[in-house]
Amino acid sequence: MSTSLSVFTSDLRLSDNPVLRGATRSAERVVPLFVVDRGLAGTGFAVPNRVAFLADALADLDAGLRERGGRLVVRRGDAVAEILRAARQADAEEVHIAGGVSGYATRREQRLREALEADGRRLRVHGAVVTAVEPGEVAPAGKDHFAVFTPYFRAWQRAGLREALTAPRTVSVPSGLRSEPVAAVTSLAPGSPSPGLPEGGETAGRRRVRSWWRSGLADYADRQDDLAGDATSRLSPYLHFGCLSPVELVHRARKAGGAGADAFVRQLAWRDFHHQVLAARPDAAHADYRPRGDRWRHDEAEIAAWKAGRTGYPLVDAGMRQLRHEGWMHNRARLLVAGFLTKTLYQDWRIGARHFLDLLVDGDLANNQLNWQWAAGTGTDTRPNRVLNPLTQARRFDPDGAYVRRWVPELAEVTGSGVHTPWRLPKAERDRLDYPGPIVDLQEGLARFRDARG
Ligand code: FAD
Repeated sequence: MSTSLSVFTSDLRLSDNPVLRGATRSAERVVPLFVVDRGLAGTGFAVPNRVAFLADALADLDAGLRERGGRLVVRRGDAVAEILRAARQADAEEVHIAGGVSGYATRREQRLREALEADGRRLRVHGAVVTAVEPGEVAPAGKDHFAVFTPYFRAWQRAGLREALTAPRTVSVPSGLRSEPVAAVTSLAPGSPSPGLPEGGETAGRRRVRSWWRSGLADYADRQDDLAGDATSRLSPYLHFGCLSPVELVHRARKAGGAGADAFVRQLAWRDFHHQVLAARPDAAHADYRPRGDRWRHDEAEIAAWKAGRTGYPLVDAGMRQLRHEGWMHNRARLLVAGFLTKTLYQDWRIGARHFLDLLVDGDLANNQLNWQWAAGTGTDTRPNRVLNPLTQARRFDPDGAYVRRWVPELAEVTGSGVHTPWRLPKAERDRLDYPGPIVDLQEGLARFRDARG
């Protein structure tokens, strides 16, 4: 009987998974394999929040495969060595895997191809698994990627989308293959996850889609920036781990139609946009995409206050506290706290991006690093010197202060929009609050940034 390996990476789902479908179609038996890559431990990519979500996702995948007569095979070690070992043990002719965009993923793919070919086996890499439109599929004439979102989005909308695939009905796995318990993955990052972490996995992701589709999609265009309303989909961790398929979501949203669905599709295109930038410029994970010769300040006390949510600017602090509590932050707050660190405080975007990757359950190299660069003005923003003012943002996106009161309990008793400017409260009231004064004067911060940028 012929056998294929289906290697799960950023595609931890059974529905609309071209990798799994490719493997089940090409052979009678399939080894659904996940390798806990030891090389990731201690790199900063394996952190408690994402590893906890990953453990849920693997358990859910295993349960779904068992319902279909199969199971997940989990191995631990070097990804390439373990895939090769499993391919030999199962005598698999082909190994199927999703194409990735990070330097880590492309190096793994190259090493895997060489190792398998030397062993007389074949690697099949599937596109449009992690993103809806594969990086490089649309590009401006003579260039390898789009550097500006709006023309990218136009081309992206014209790109053909493959049909969504159903989950295989049965999966036949050869017997006798050794597997570690799914929980072995938690060895990658010991430590406690954030208390408000969502449940991982395809089943939880599809449940979230169903409820948000009913209650959030139609109004998304109007409410996506309403911080207290919390009206975004919260699908980002499911998309990051591939528990949900971006192709399927785009098809479904286009079918639903309307302003909300259009706005949602646009956000999914942003995700693809950043992936195609990173695929073409893997160095943008660490180096400025558009170097400006910044001479960033470095002030440890300010960085510590920013991380702890004690800057004295309530909206900034609310975002930073939400991040610590939930491993997630609203997009509008992400933009604000990132701009505050990199522009108002004029500190290196890499410090903020690292902190986000330490905590975000959706922490994703393409989306995180390139959004940070966007906010810092070293990335793809066509107005790189714009500076978001926390007070203006508060008036627009948290007008009565409900988001601040939710996340900054020291200010919970302050009524009305005065919660955004506690330093203006009557002295007696202010003195009763265990809340710091502003760590920077906004006008001075702005002037310093403008001076530095010439
Ligand atoms: P929704 O508003 O419901 O959007 C739907 C989906 O579209 C999201 O799940 C996400 O996959 C995608 N999306 C939305 N906005 C963006 C965007 N600006 N860029 C790329 N994709 C987007 N997103 C991550 O997935 N991982 C990260 O590590 C990450 N880091 C960020 C860092 C900064 C400084 C900023 C400003 C943004 C970052 N984002 C990141 C993008 C965005 O904030 C999140 O995707 C979004 O808040 C997730 O919430 P949601 O699922 O409710 O989004």
